[in-house]
Amino acid sequence: PRSARPPPTPLPKPSLGLDGDRLKVFLRIRPLPDRGRFKSKAQATKPKQQCLVANGANSVALTVPHSKLADPKRARTELFDGFSAVFSPDSSQHDVFSQVMNPLVDEFLGGKSGLLLAMGPTGSGKTHTVFGSARNPGLLPLALRRIFSSTDDHPARSFCLSMFEILSEGKGERILDLLSDATDIVLQQSTIKGLKEVSIETSTDAESLVLSGMLKRTTAATNANSKSSRSQCIITIRAVRKINDVEIEKSLSDAVLTIADLAGAERERRTGNQGTRLLESNFINNTSMVFGLCLRALLEHQKNKKKPLEKHFKNSMLTRYLRDYLEGRKKMTLILNVKPGDDDYLDTSFLLRQASPYMKIKYTNLDDSSDLVSQKRSNVSLICQENKKKGKF
Ligand code: ADP
Ligand code: MG
Repeated sequence: PRSARPPPTPLPKPSLGLDGDRLKVFLRIRPLPDRGRFKSKAQATKPKQQCLVANGANSVALTVPHSKLADPKRARTELFDGFSAVFSPDSSQHDVFSQVMNPLVDEFLGGKSGLLLAMGPTGSGKTHTVFGSARNPGLLPLALRRIFSSTDDHPARSFCLSMFEILSEGKGERILDLLSDATDIVLQQSTIKGLKEVSIETSTDAESLVLSGMLKRTTAATNANSKSSRSQCIITIRAVRKINDVEIEKSLSDAVLTIADLAGAERERRTGNQGTRLLESNFINNTSMVFGLCLRALLEHQKNKKKPLEKHFKNSMLTRYLRDYLEGRKKMTLILNVKPGDDDYLDTSFLLRQASPYMKIKYTNLDDSSDLVSQKRSNVSLICQENKKKGKF
């Protein structure tokens, strides 16, 4: 029989989560799976140990599982500190929304672009966090509701939504528009040409549009999670300024709110992928690796300006698309999703180690030129004056 787990070593006191102008990194711990979902009776009755627990509002304690300890008498617990917030398994979608997404929506309505990225291994709750379900809506539907509930304050606004996937196929990548059947979609610089943008008028319309996109989303089974998705799914909501129902030229319209549900970066051993699936798995790991390299390069560059900002972003479509965010010109927010079970220790520990340095990234170099509200306001009034001269209004 399994002996009791040795008492954990005392932990240092967690710090206060001071964000300031730092990159916000949130952590959400999903609940342990239901007993009923285990395949065998033996699994269902075995008590499930938890290697990760919240330790205050901004840190987590990770304990090496018994089975992985060389000397079981010497338990090892590590503290990962400095998260903007840690959400324990009983946190609701609304808790997560109010701390993670609401500030981004506020900035977006104020004319600034923003990005939320959900990352973590397969089955850790990324899709649950971003989309949720009809009964338990996630950050995207809640953001849409919030946006439309505040349009009374912004009568000169309308919104457009796009939704696409970056699929990895063998050694290549392809963009799939989830809102149209167009096939000639290409990524040029950081812009996707040929992507459908649908004008959204109400939250209900927008949510059913997202649902239709979800149905199209290609999924493929792996041993790790039968519903795991081998793709990166990206949704953008663009604010369009309107004057007397005339949409202002695209270049003058302001903010874009981007939400990304990334493919899980799992270790191949675990998923047992074969053939093409294995290639895709390598590739997805590669995308998350490129993403990590970009952020590390940004951090190094911030510490020492003489260090060039490495051009890692070129190595995957996702990072090319998100270049402005990965080079610190626009603000992003990360939410790491993790599974707390002992058998998830390696994935969890890998992700925490990978992401800890990201919290040190600072936003001192924000390029507001693309969101320059004041400049755009003056452009808007110029257009108004010109249109008035032309007798359009
Ligand atoms: P991922 O997208 O990271 O692969 P999912 O979001 O599909 O993971 O989550 C896997 C399963 O766990 C789903 O059935 C989901 O409903 C459930 N789940 C994930 N996070 C939570 C949570 N916080 N509360 C309840 N169920 C969750
Ligand atoms: Mg998913």
